[in-house]
Amino acid sequence: MRILILGGTIEARALAEALGPRADFAVTVSLAGRTAEPLPQAAPVRRGGFGGAEGLALYLAAEKIDVLIDATHPYAAAISANAARAAASAGVKLIALRRPSWRKVAGDDWIEVENVEAAVAALGPAPKRVFLGLGRNELQPFAAAPQHFYLIRSVDPVDPPLAVPHAAYIVARGPFSASEDRELLQRHAIAAIVAKNSGGEATYGKIEAARALRLPVIMLKRPALPEVASVATVDEVLAAIGHALTLSTARGV
Ligand code: NAP
Repeated sequence: MRILILGGTIEARALAEALGPRADFAVTVSLAGRTAEPLPQAAPVRRGGFGGAEGLALYLAAEKIDVLIDATHPYAAAISANAARAAASAGVKLIALRRPSWRKVAGDDWIEVENVEAAVAALGPAPKRVFLGLGRNELQPFAAAPQHFYLIRSVDPVDPPLAVPHAAYIVARGPFSASEDRELLQRHAIAAIVAKNSGGEATYGKIEAARALRLPVIMLKRPALPEVASVATVDEVLAAIGHALTLSTARGV
């Protein structure tokens, strides 16, 4: 069975680890190429876009892919939309792994906004010390609010740096614990956090730290994703793959 995993997430890496070494699967992991030095994967890696849904459909046909797993980040809406369209047009089974959102709990002070520009507006005019837990490609709109101090943590260096007078940069790859994030926020006297609702454990530390320190979190709402059959965990994907393999074996494919 030939499988293409659209990756870039912890879950995609775990799937490659589970499926990559098996003789009955030929697995390829597709990475967007956003990270300069991605973590090693337990299956061959393809980097970069496909050229939209049409490009992906052509790739699925040319590589004779049987199952497409969309295990991308919940904010990678373009690739998820492309995956749904391409799988439908190429007649390939699609399994979408949708990591559940974080839910607000008692003590959380979240201001939910539609996009990065709205997050900038939500910071208000008075200078604040702000932690930005966003990807380095999403920072540009904050240049419109240079009165704030920004603490920016990203996997790769922000180059060129954000065009603001007060910013500090941390290059680090998660997971980050609540205690280390709490210490970081206190050390920089942070008053507000901007975050995506990524879900999962790896970046939840800052949300727990914000709760403990009673800091507001300006939370970017998740983008709309195509309505396709989806599962929430790596184990459920593996079960769905096992089911598809049983069916194809029974059909003698
Ligand atoms: P996007 O807006 O959905 O995709 C933009 C383009 O990147 C797509 O149109 C596609 O190009 C290509 N692409 C994205 N994921 C791909 C994959 N797994 N394999 C091959 N090509 C892929 O996604 P994004 O710009 O990467 O990220 C959007 C948001 O997701 C950001 O908030 C980012 O921080 C977050 N995020 C993304 C990843 C990731 O691995 N993509 C990981 C962590 C966080 P074509 O149209 O040419 O096919």
